[in-house]
Amino acid sequence: MNKKNTGFNSKLVHAGTIPDDKGSAVTPIYQTSTFQFRDADHGARCFSGEEKGYIYTRLGNPNTDELEVAVAELEKGFGGISASSGMAAVNIVYLTILSQGDHMIGHDALYGPSRGVMEKLYPKFGIESDFVDCTDVENIKQAIKPNTKLLYLETPANPTVGITDLKAACAIAKAHNLIVCVDNTFCSPYLQRPIEFGADIVLHSMTKFINGHADIVAGMLVAKDEALYHDLKYVMINGGFNMDPHQAWLVRRGLKTLSIRIDKAQENSMKVAEFLEAHPKVDWVLYPGLKSHPQYDLAEAQMDGPGAMISFELKGGIQAGKTMMNNVELALLAVSLGGIETLIQHPASMTHSKLSAEARENAGITDGLVRLSVGIEDLDDIISDMNHALSKV
Ligand SMILES: *Cc1c(COP(=O)(O)O)cnc(C)c1O
Repeated sequence: MNKKNTGFNSKLVHAGTIPDDKGSAVTPIYQTSTFQFRDADHGARCFSGEEKGYIYTRLGNPNTDELEVAVAELEKGFGGISASSGMAAVNIVYLTILSQGDHMIGHDALYGPSRGVMEKLYPKFGIESDFVDCTDVENIKQAIKPNTKLLYLETPANPTVGITDLKAACAIAKAHNLIVCVDNTFCSPYLQRPIEFGADIVLHSMTKFINGHADIVAGMLVAKDEALYHDLKYVMINGGFNMDPHQAWLVRRGLKTLSIRIDKAQENSMKVAEFLEAHPKVDWVLYPGLKSHPQYDLAEAQMDGPGAMISFELKGGIQAGKTMMNNVELALLAVSLGGIETLIQHPASMTHSKLSAEARENAGITDGLVRLSVGIEDLDDIISDMNHALSKV
């Protein structure tokens, strides 16, 4: 059987596995910085590229290779480039695609640091950016300039759960020769494959759903074609953004259960979202699986499921948010997302507390907004925890 033509779940389990001569069922951990050559000619052939051989772990290692092959197959791209963190992956994209004098367009509600570094760090290299609400693709058209090179999207976006129409956005970008990068962290390839809609690069913080166990920080890029793959890989290697072999091994292990973790978390999420929507202390709920989500139809068309991230607005503003945070017992009061444990956070007093009230309002981060990453615990326990914390508000 050709393991390349298997279905998604078989790929989760088997893709990229590197068997060893002792019959190990899983790829062993190659915890080594360097690799021995058999002789001088072998070394020369590895360096010239005539023979595919390992040289030095920053350039490549069996464990990072295995993970790169697996995620690239799942995302239906040409190849993967693993990175030490999601933010390392973001910076690899910026450094690869943008040169002095170039301009990029990003979605306005990106993961904070993805926008932050572009506004704080990259202007000193003469790189310009505009962040617009890409959930209305007309805004992308309006923002394109003669020097625009990159369209950087995140959908669903954090923490407002806005959804960008990937097919429409990619069509606009292609008409203007822009490279499109999509941060697919919230969905993982199980729920959305941006390359199918025309994206050139897919980005993951594998810290979240792909690893899924809240014990690793890691990133990945998947390039649609070979040229882009080599350009991104050059920056990964020479920028020193590489992933450690042990880290790669743990992420590969986490990846194996991606679909069953997401199925369970999603099933819980739908019921938790319905519970919250009916609760008198909750003003509104944003979850792509609820008919009340303003882009419910787009989510249905573009995603294979609504995911496990819920945002909701408490009546009673900042104080209500803090009270709820102080009264959860099962859910962990913590940032991050996509793990097997339920996590809750209050952006106005936590992740976005440094912003002015006005800047928060512009980004859609209202005072009573709560972000919930639903885990795989028993549904009844998650709902009782929410119910108990809400009763104190
Ligand atoms: C966490 C996150 C990142 C950054 O990833 P790290 O692994 O923390 O560096 C980027 N994008 C999204 C959507 C994230 O949630």
